[in-house]
Amino acid sequence: MSKRMEFTRKDKAKIIARANGKCEKCSAMLKTGEGEVDHILPCALGGEATVVNGRLLCRVCHVEKTAGDIKAIRKSDRQRDKATGALRPKSALAGRKQSKPALTKALPPRAMFIPIGDTVFAQGGGE
Ligand SMILES: [Zn+2]
Repeated sequence: MSKRMEFTRKDKAKIIARANGKCEKCSAMLKTGEGEVDHILPCALGGEATVVNGRLLCRVCHVEKTAGDIKAIRKSDRQRDKATGALRPKSALAGRKQSKPALTKALPPRAMFIPIGDTVFAQGGGE
């Protein structure tokens, strides 16, 4: 993942002009030279450095957005690894919820809804 597509100066200028001096997420006013051009779909996930995939963000929004991107990129890495059958060391999965064991069990919560259904039928079907 070494090639990182950057916006051309021309595209950056177009995005900045479109933003009209505001953050395109929270609408904070930006001074000239403030604001950061962000990839809406991160390039690590196939996003291109185009005007359509770019937007001007204030520093706060950009930091938040980047933190979210990193999560999304990690998730896509995991999904790709799963699809290709690649194995990762256990430490890479630390902090992940383990949901698989539950699938082998029966589904007891369903029983809780049956009495409610009986009550409804008992009241309505007396004719
Ligand atoms: Zn903002």
